[in-house]
Amino acid sequence: MTWSSISRRAFVAGGALLAAGAGQAEPPPDRLVGRPDPQLDTPEPLPEDRQLGFAVVGLGKLALGEIMDAFATARRAKVTALVSGNRDKALRVAARYGVPESGLYSYDDFDRIADNPAVDVVYIVLPNALHRAFAERAFRAGKHVLCEKPMATNVADCAAMIAASEAAGRKLMIAYRCQFEPHNLMAMRAIRGGELGAVRVITADVGRGTDPRDPADQWRLNRALAGSGSLFDIGIYGLNAARFLVGEEPVEVRAQLYARPDDPRFREVEDVVVWTMRFPGGAQFHGSTSYSYSFTNRIQATCDNGVLVLDPSMEYHAQRLQIRDRTIQMSPIDQFAREMDHFCMAITDGVPIVADGAEGMQDVRLMLAILEAGRTGRAVSTDWGYRRAADPATSVPDRLGVA
Ligand code: NAD
Repeated sequence: MTWSSISRRAFVAGGALLAAGAGQAEPPPDRLVGRPDPQLDTPEPLPEDRQLGFAVVGLGKLALGEIMDAFATARRAKVTALVSGNRDKALRVAARYGVPESGLYSYDDFDRIADNPAVDVVYIVLPNALHRAFAERAFRAGKHVLCEKPMATNVADCAAMIAASEAAGRKLMIAYRCQFEPHNLMAMRAIRGGELGAVRVITADVGRGTDPRDPADQWRLNRALAGSGSLFDIGIYGLNAARFLVGEEPVEVRAQLYARPDDPRFREVEDVVVWTMRFPGGAQFHGSTSYSYSFTNRIQATCDNGVLVLDPSMEYHAQRLQIRDRTIQMSPIDQFAREMDHFCMAITDGVPIVADGAEGMQDVRLMLAILEAGRTGRAVSTDWGYRRAADPATSVPDRLGVA
């Protein structure tokens, strides 16, 4: 019996699927859970000496709130180094997670990491505009790079990161955790499998409030560090999800931008972005994002034979999927652990990376097109022929080497 059959059985029959509200197990929708999906399973744990070592760069909200804890769940990844501008904080975090003092680096002496054989992968969790420089330094040090979304703030930086990865012969992955999240994957299979008929409209609304007193929001309101406002930070989730749910690339965009002129948060970056995109198969995509909403992350696919709703769609620990009148709530998984394990398998077993550098660059190009459409008030073509190298729907069995 393989790990995939064991954990798949647990997923299907072991109570992982709950009817929302009633709290009772609901039989799995067979036609949706009909084939192996290793993204929903966990890989076999490797002994620690065969796990890949990760250096986490930037000990901010995401790193300390989610990523450091995810190593406890990951089966192929372990944390062996930390990179921080604050030595005291790094020492405290290192003590808590068992990182040796020899694995601590500052941003200035980061390049010494080349001499640390315990580090295989550098995980960049810094403000967006710093991703390129640290990716290039990591590749020069001979390490693989997992980089937080958005990949960068402009296309030139994305291209430079891809070129640096190729020159170093090291792998690059962008951390799109929702591509490993079971409710999102089940929604993708339902939509692409034709279960609901043709998709007519996809709607994605992603927003949250920002607080300029929070250091994690200060750089987000600064164009030089963030690149743009709500769109690059959170609107990207709706955009990326619409693309992988439909399995097509949008060919045209129209958009509107808005920020209250008297709101000091939006001197440099946009607040509300509303856009429509056209997919070549006929589906229309309506997206919105904002930094002044109450917390929202909701995706709806309106199809010929029913409606599918993911709400919430991109929480760290709880999603809910509604397909027609059936509510599906599965046990949460650690998306960060799953994405790190996937990257490890790409490095050690040659599994195709679902979200490679080209995929990260595609979102950056599309977001810049959305902003251009909003600024000019004109439709902007996005039909530049991008095709993703590894589709989460069709390359899943190959990716993890499971028949
Ligand atoms: P944060 O501000 O909490 O953390 C950023 C870290 O970078 C801090 O430790 C900060 O000290 C450090 N830093 C180094 N140089 C800096 C500089 N010049 N200015 C400001 N900070 C500097 O931010 P965060 O919320 O952890 O976000 C980090 C990255 O992770 C971003 O790219 C963000 O888009 C991404 N992110 C992804 C998710 C996800 O779910 N995948 C969630 C949140 C954030």
